[in-house]
Amino acid sequence: MIEQVAALYDKKFNCPYCENSFASKRVRSGSLSMIKRDSDFCTYFKEQSINPILYTVNVCPSCGFAFTELFTERLNPAQKRLVGERIAAKWTPKELGGNRSLSMAAAAYKLAIYAAELTDQVHSVKAGLYLRLAWLYRFTENASEEKRFLQIAVNEYEQSYIHSDYTRGDKEMSEVRVLYLIGELMRRIEQYDKAIQYFSRTLEFRNRTVETGILQMAQDQWAQAREDYKEQQKGLPSAKIS
Ligand SMILES: [Zn+2]
Repeated sequence: MIEQVAALYDKKFNCPYCENSFASKRVRSGSLSMIKRDSDFCTYFKEQSINPILYTVNVCPSCGFAFTELFTERLNPAQKRLVGERIAAKWTPKELGGNRSLSMAAAAYKLAIYAAELTDQVHSVKAGLYLRLAWLYRFTENASEEKRFLQIAVNEYEQSYIHSDYTRGDKEMSEVRVLYLIGELMRRIEQYDKAIQYFSRTLEFRNRTVETGILQMAQDQWAQAREDYKEQQKGLPSAKIS
């Protein structure tokens, strides 16, 4: 608990809808020690209660508009009207900017997803929100909710790839990385044929990218997807009789 208090600090934000100024917790990067990273980049820290993904979303306590630093800074008049009607008018003032449990963080993501859909944020922003919400469910071992949100995340990443908006905001995202990630999310939702296609497209970047770590992961997960696919075929009707 002492660790947690020292690791968090207040950061000030201005609400793009009501212009209220409020504070939301952030994690000091120096206080994190990573334990492991899953094949879809979900990262685990020694102190999971200060995993930065719990603190990505800012929720305006006075109007309920929830956003991340990747949202557009301004709302146009039509978006403002929608937020006013669908979010602010229904909001009971409450504070989500303090220390967050996993369930409070999930609630914040759901608010941000609703706000992102309503205000037409780019696909990459929506994809990132859905993926992180899926990870929160992974942390609580809720496999069905995890899979539900991975499914939406991968659709958004595919759209993001098609519309080339995947570099907007996320500095780490590159073409080779987004192709790999789509492949891996497809594998996780058991769309093995699509997973294999996306891993193959990733591997076409051999000799064209400095991201050799991603190529290695694509190679490994491509092999895994082929295995998974064979297992799935075995599990089809004929096997059920035995
Ligand atoms: Zn507000």
